[in-house]
Amino acid sequence: AKSEGRNNYQFFTAEMNLRASEQLMLESELRHALKRHEFSLRYQPQISLSQGRVVGLEALVRWEHPERGTISPLDFVPVAEETGLIVELGYQILEQACQDAVKFQHLLGEPVYMAVNISPRQFRDIELVEAIRAILQRTGLNPHQLELEITESTLMEQIDQSLPMMHDLEQLGISLSIDDFGTGYSSLSYLKQLPVHSLKIDRSFIQEIPHDQDDMSIISAVTAMTQKLKIAVVAEGVETREQLDFLADHQCDLIQGYLFSPPVTAQELAERCVQIRQQ
Ligand code: C2E
Ligand code: CA
Ligand code: CA
Ligand code: CA
Repeated sequence: AKSEGRNNYQFFTAEMNLRASEQLMLESELRHALKRHEFSLRYQPQISLSQGRVVGLEALVRWEHPERGTISPLDFVPVAEETGLIVELGYQILEQACQDAVKFQHLLGEPVYMAVNISPRQFRDIELVEAIRAILQRTGLNPHQLELEITESTLMEQIDQSLPMMHDLEQLGISLSIDDFGTGYSSLSYLKQLPVHSLKIDRSFIQEIPHDQDDMSIISAVTAMTQKLKIAVVAEGVETREQLDFLADHQCDLIQGYLFSPPVTAQELAERCVQIRQQ
């Protein structure tokens, strides 16, 4: 048993070393990719149920790797976060998303807001507010049309630091959205103190509509509460007509998911904007 334990231990460390060296490789690849601007954005529409039109877009990053093709953010954002590279990457993303938001707006002839994901590390960057101010100036995007998506756990982990940051962003005219709502440990009583414009109900609660009664009860409780607090509710990951019908019946304001559209390239989106205008 003793030698077995030892073998396990050796196996374990070998695997850990492998993972560590993979991380290092990925880190140096990410640095190169940042210099070469290998990251691109996809945009997924958010549809307002009351207005029956696209009112917003969420920017979702992809790594266009020269050899490995398109890489999902799930495979590199965590390492970018751990190494701090997410800060620089995040600014590239913000700049691109704001530029594109101005373009889409011209194409559509109607205001649309752009929602950009902000990771915990980015949210703690003391230069965030100034950097965003500069990006808005350079791109000419109206601050009211920029929304930052921050996960529930990022906000709640350091609420003392989050609050002043949120107020500074609000002062700039930017909207804040709580991402992955329901997966963290936010106390609902905090919601009314936070300057948030919307919250996004996590896909895990949407997935099993109309089969999971618990999830459905949670959703109707959340929408009832947010209505009183004047916070908009976005349902993410809506894939079926049944899910849409349930959400519409329960005062959900905005819908995002494959049912309407997957995330698409700026080019595809621009083509769709032109089609919508011509209809
Ligand atoms: P998230 O912010 O919760 O984004 C929603 C994810 O759900 C996206 O995955 C989106 O493509 C996917 N999705 C949308 N509709 C549906 C649907 O109907 N069904 C299913 N199954 N999935 C749907 P994606 O693009 O792979 O992004 C994954 C995560 O990576 C994001 O989760 C976010 O945490 C992170 N991420 C993506 N882009 C960025 C970024 O620009 N910056 C940062 N910091 N993180 C990002
Ligand atoms: Ca998001
Ligand atoms: Ca989410
Ligand atoms: Ca359940």
